[in-house]
Amino acid sequence: MLKAEIITSGTELLLGEIADTNTSYIAGQLAGLGINLYYTSTVGDNFERYSGVLKQAWERSDLIITTGGLGPTQGDITREVVSALLGEKMTIDPGLKEELTQFFTRMHIDMPDNNLKQATLIPSAQALHNTAGTAPGWWVEKEGRTIIVLPGPPREMQTMWQNAVRERLEKKRSAYIMSRVIKTWGMAEANVDLLVTPFLKSANPTLAMYANPDGIRLRITARADSLKRAEELVAGRERDIRELLKDKIWGIDDDTLERVAAKRLLQKKKTLAVAETFTGGLLARSLSSVMELKELFRGGLVIMGGARAGWELGESSPETAIKLARLAREKFRAEIGLAIDGPEVTGQSLPGGKVFIAIEGDGNDEVFPPGYLGRLDQMAWRTVNHALFLLKDFVDR
Ligand code: ATP
Ligand code: MG
Repeated sequence: MLKAEIITSGTELLLGEIADTNTSYIAGQLAGLGINLYYTSTVGDNFERYSGVLKQAWERSDLIITTGGLGPTQGDITREVVSALLGEKMTIDPGLKEELTQFFTRMHIDMPDNNLKQATLIPSAQALHNTAGTAPGWWVEKEGRTIIVLPGPPREMQTMWQNAVRERLEKKRSAYIMSRVIKTWGMAEANVDLLVTPFLKSANPTLAMYANPDGIRLRITARADSLKRAEELVAGRERDIRELLKDKIWGIDDDTLERVAAKRLLQKKKTLAVAETFTGGLLARSLSSVMELKELFRGGLVIMGGARAGWELGESSPETAIKLARLAREKFRAEIGLAIDGPEVTGQSLPGGKVFIAIEGDGNDEVFPPGYLGRLDQMAWRTVNHALFLLKDFVDR
């Protein structure tokens, strides 16, 4: 299986003057192509050290991608380093020289002699056309390995990648990789971990788990020699996980809780209004961000501390939460009222045991005490997500 390695060069990267975005771009592209990336490194514009890093890469990787150091100055040494490693001599390519000369003529400037080295090649290299700048890249094939030499400026590098590299690499790909993210709500990470333990050890498909404000997510990743097979592996594991986590699963991939809840409202054509206190409008904002919902989502009340008395709301409690849900429904003449209530917040954190979510409609009502406590901004989002999760199920009934 192909092993890839990225080397970015530039002393300014080591000084922290610019962030190395080339590595992350290329890493993302390789992942999409199903090519294994094993190492990345960054080296300054120093011949000895650059040669050392490239030699190590040559010994341990099949595909090496470099960026930077293709400019005309003496500090730009990538071509020299590659030629030295392979023991090949750089010579000026007449075709490349002609292109370069024409570029300078079009710009109405005399071409400095220094630029001529941008028109060089070695016997194992083919030029990669640069449509966004002057320095061509190199595609080097030798002894079963490939070195792809790309310019440093991200725009030039990315353009070259898309025009001259991606398609060629696709032919080298060793596998198809497919991923699916399963999104859950209402389970602690440790519990999910216990449930899916047997699958965590599987090498293909793999399963990874991570926490997010909208719940615990599980990422299934499969590798196969055809896309169809990779899809089958993912689908199979998804079925296993659905069987285990059942209604804790609310979505996959790009789904958001507000869109999933909105979809149910649209299916049932139910109108909705909300009322919220310590979340300060987040619930209304989430729902109003779903364009399709604009006929069904009627509006929201945001009642902050000092105004509670005016609405005849006591301390946060299950009864107050229901009262808020009913208030929202009546004020906006909606079929469903959804409310979040919490305690008076004085600092940056939420005291425990005083958050309530209520849903009311069609003669039914329900209250949930999620028991959240902790950093206010995080808890506000968590409560909103919880409310959306409950809404989705309530509409279904
Ligand atoms: P030039 O012909 O512009 O000199 P080059 O191929 O020689 O291009 P470098 O001299 O190494 O490339 O880098 C030129 C500029 O490109 C850097 O100053 C920086 O702005 C950007 N750059 C280089 N490498 C990276 C990287 N890894 N990530 C993000 N930007 C980079
Ligand atoms: Mg340069």
